[in-house]
Amino acid sequence: MFDIVIVGGGPGGLTAGIYAQRSRLKTLLIEKEMVGGQIAVSDVIENYPGFPSISGAGLMEKFEEHAKGLGLEIRLDEVQNIALDANVKVLKTTEGELRAKAVIIATGAKPRRLGVPGEKELTGKGVSYCATCDGPFFRGRNVMVVGGGDTAVKEAVYLSKLAAKVTLVHRRDGFRAERMHLERAEAAPNIEFVTNSVLKEIKAENGVVAKAVIENLKTSKAEEAPVEGVFIFVGINPTTDFVDVDKDAGGFIKTNQLMETSVAGIYAVGDCRTTPLLQVATAVGDGAIAAHAADGYIETFKER
Ligand code: NAP
Repeated sequence: MFDIVIVGGGPGGLTAGIYAQRSRLKTLLIEKEMVGGQIAVSDVIENYPGFPSISGAGLMEKFEEHAKGLGLEIRLDEVQNIALDANVKVLKTTEGELRAKAVIIATGAKPRRLGVPGEKELTGKGVSYCATCDGPFFRGRNVMVVGGGDTAVKEAVYLSKLAAKVTLVHRRDGFRAERMHLERAEAAPNIEFVTNSVLKEIKAENGVVAKAVIENLKTSKAEEAPVEGVFIFVGINPTTDFVDVDKDAGGFIKTNQLMETSVAGIYAVGDCRTTPLLQVATAVGDGAIAAHAADGYIETFKER
């Protein structure tokens, strides 16, 4: 039996792993796809203290090296559900079953789909949710970015360095993105802002994206824009379906300030929990708190 099983290998999970190893707890981290999480596909991180500018992948390699250097065991596997009725938590995974005194959920979130015609069929054929993964395919071409948050504005700036033109479509005229990202987007000569507008449909020619239909919400007029890439950044959905603890309306796990969920021995950290700020820095803080709280819980743990 493990003291702690951490589910998810992004910044929150890896930090929990570092703290748990230093507390000499028998810990296992399970990751479904790739250690590093969503942030590993970010081209540049400029707000993680100590690293004025580093790639997401580069920063996460350092986290992983640090955790592994302390002896953290990391396994590629997927947790399907967690039995919560006894003190010993039983995690059913693709590979079998695991038992743990405490579980830290650090599964993060995935990009939200817009649900417009053409989006699903053309994903991977011009529709993308990752600028660093797919941006280089659009060198010298016209692309569209949808959204008005940090991701949309930041990725529009990244894409503007590759594409001939970036059309940034946002449903309001106010942006929730950080001022610094917005200033960079405004300064880019090839980013056109199209506000108070929504993407209605993505059209294909020869099986790949060729046009985007945009509706102006003020005039109700729709227009077709010739684009070869459509990047959608309209928020995120948490990966929390596999665990039955209290969640908010968006599916984010509710925690208290110790990262405790509604079930004793289950903790949640980072983007999968209800939090005012989704950042590497805050996920790291969550991970440290959860491992510390779990350590205290394990000390008084009784099997039943
Ligand atoms: P977000 O902050 O939730 O922004 C989502 C954007 O999509 C909003 O502008 C929203 O419009 C728009 N949107 C949502 N549903 C839509 C729909 N159906 N049709 C059209 N537009 C729609 O999501 P995010 O940008 O992915 O960021 C997620 C979190 O990560 C945030 O907390 C963000 O601060 C953080 N993050 C930080 C950085 C950084 O560099 N600091 C970088 C990336 C992400 P409204 O504004 O009208 O609601």
